[in-house]
Amino acid sequence: MKFEDQIRAAQADSVLAVLTVSLLANSFIALTTAAVLWLQQPATDQAIWLVGIVTLNMLRQVAAAILKRKDVGRRDPKAVLNHLTIGAFASGCLWAFAPFLGPGLSSDGAQAYVIFIIAGISAGAIIQSTAYSRTAIAFGAPAMLAAVASLLQSPSTVNTVIAADVLLLMVMMFRSSRMSEVNFIISLTDRLKAVSLAASLSRANEEISSSNRQLEILASRDPLTGLGNRAAFNLRLDQLLGQPEGDVPMALLIIDLDRFKSINDTMGHTAGDIVLAEFARRLSAIAAPEHLVARLGGDEFAVVIEGEDAAAKALALGTEILDLTARPVMIGDRQVTIGSSVGLAHVPEHARSAEAIFACADIALYAAKEQGRRRLRVFSPDIKQRLDRQKQIEIGLEDALASGEVEVFFQPQVELSGETVIGFEALVRWNHPALGAISPPEIVQAARALHVSERLTRHVATAAADLVLRLPALGLAGICVAINVSPREFSLYSLSKTLGEVARAAGISPSQMEIEITEEATLDTAAAGTELELLEKAGFRLAVDDFGMGHSSLAYIISLKVDRLKIDRSFVHGIAASRQNQALVAALVGMGHALSIDIVIEGVETPEDAEVLRMLGCRFAQGYLYGRPMPAAALPAWLAARSPKAQPESLAGTA
Ligand code: C2E
Ligand code: MG
Ligand code: MG
Repeated sequence: MKFEDQIRAAQADSVLAVLTVSLLANSFIALTTAAVLWLQQPATDQAIWLVGIVTLNMLRQVAAAILKRKDVGRRDPKAVLNHLTIGAFASGCLWAFAPFLGPGLSSDGAQAYVIFIIAGISAGAIIQSTAYSRTAIAFGAPAMLAAVASLLQSPSTVNTVIAADVLLLMVMMFRSSRMSEVNFIISLTDRLKAVSLAASLSRANEEISSSNRQLEILASRDPLTGLGNRAAFNLRLDQLLGQPEGDVPMALLIIDLDRFKSINDTMGHTAGDIVLAEFARRLSAIAAPEHLVARLGGDEFAVVIEGEDAAAKALALGTEILDLTARPVMIGDRQVTIGSSVGLAHVPEHARSAEAIFACADIALYAAKEQGRRRLRVFSPDIKQRLDRQKQIEIGLEDALASGEVEVFFQPQVELSGETVIGFEALVRWNHPALGAISPPEIVQAARALHVSERLTRHVATAAADLVLRLPALGLAGICVAINVSPREFSLYSLSKTLGEVARAAGISPSQMEIEITEEATLDTAAAGTELELLEKAGFRLAVDDFGMGHSSLAYIISLKVDRLKIDRSFVHGIAASRQNQALVAALVGMGHALSIDIVIEGVETPEDAEVLRMLGCRFAQGYLYGRPMPAAALPAWLAARSPKAQPESLAGTA
């Protein structure tokens, strides 16, 4: 509604509000006036006038009631005001007859009385309608003018003076009525303006807070999964761990989907999104409403659990998460299983700050992945120590490879009978400036983490090729040098190509290099099989390392034309006292004979063990009893120290 309409509606309301009382008073005063005149001198026009006034007042009352009921004041306040003005004017016109009623008017007393009543009733009308002057003027003007006219009808000085006073009074009253209306309008306008300002302020306020709320939601939600995002996660951790009153017990689970990257790479990003959304849905379904579940980015999720029993709850939830990711997800009509790894850490046992607890859970997650995925690991200081060590190893490895700090040692392999040297095994060594000796598996793992596995293998193979070149000088021409290859390397680069390049660069025959593969590699994927065939075709010798520990199929080993089986040292240690191991080794030796595969026994440490192995028909061995791994430079001395019959002629007496 416009301001003017609102003002008119308020004016109409104000007039209607007092109308009934006004009309009752008006009728009552008309009745008493008629009665007074009647008592002075009865006349029919007095009765007619009274009936007219009362009838008009009743009609006005009925009309006002209808207008009120139909709420016309709201819809069309102007019409209501017009109607009220007309009613007032009609009433004023009827009152204009009052000074002329009956013959009694000629008496001064009656005339004075009527004029007093008219002036009074007009003043009353004006007092009643402070909001709207026109009804009062429409009523008062005819009546007051009639009073003046009646006075001037019988001109006398007194009458003229009274008539002039009545006129002055009328002008004063109407002026004050106009002014009170103006004041009413001004104050109402101010009020309406204030109300409208307040309304628009509160609307603006509401709009701002609603868009703030939306921004907040957007800023704290991950749009793909609807879970909290990293910002929400950080905020919750900060809130929980930034409390001045001390530690709030809590647990943090960090979850990483195991096969997500390969699904994304092979099936596309839409498939990846389906997996993420489905995992988020399942995770939300098992998490309690008070836990914060967030997607930290990529395929990494987190759950924050608070309360005294947070650690136990988190452990149960983590186990459930492993189960729910073991259930397949449908992508179109394909079923895929993703699996997950989970890291868990608690406050206050493991850490007390947001960063530290996150780092602990992350370390536990890393350990879970490292141990073969699909498992949950709870943080422990040992894990941290191990990972710190691994990080340190990773940081230094590339430089150590470049500088030659990573060395290659060689361990001899001998014939048990005459103890003739039949080959060497190249074993990687690294004496870390801070950490001391680093075990080969740690070096291999760090190389894989840094994506420099090929470089490491090339480094060791190059050293092995160098030794091959030096063998004739050591009087050992024709024997071969073995290198170890980790089964996981097959999928990382082409081993046959790398080793082919090394052999060519050194100018040696691949037949003088042996590739030792741990047993599990032969079980591996088709890619491994292809690589092994390529190596074999290129002329490299193949050996299965640590035989007896894994589950190689013999048929597969035969089909690969493996040249050697190396029996793991766990079967050899204390063989003199173990009938069972004796039987096992004897069986393997028999099988080797039958398949024309050389059997090499690893880890022979004592003369007793060597004696038993010889009796069991073993021909070849490797172990501390014969020689520890040593740098190539130490080989001549080692050879020289051996029995004269095993010594190469050219080196005899030189060491
Ligand atoms: P492996 O291929 O079975 O190597 C034999 C391991 O047994 C060597 O440990 C060697 O030092 C140790 N050994 C030899 N004789 C005896 C003995 O009489 N008693 C005992 N107790 N141990 C003996 P090392 O050098 O620590 O290597 C451990 C494993 O690390 C190797 O096992 C091999 O699988 C791997 N490795 C070593 N160098 C490399 C490498 O350059 N590349 C890859 N991929 N793996 C390597
Ligand atoms: Mg080996
Ligand atoms: Mg071995």
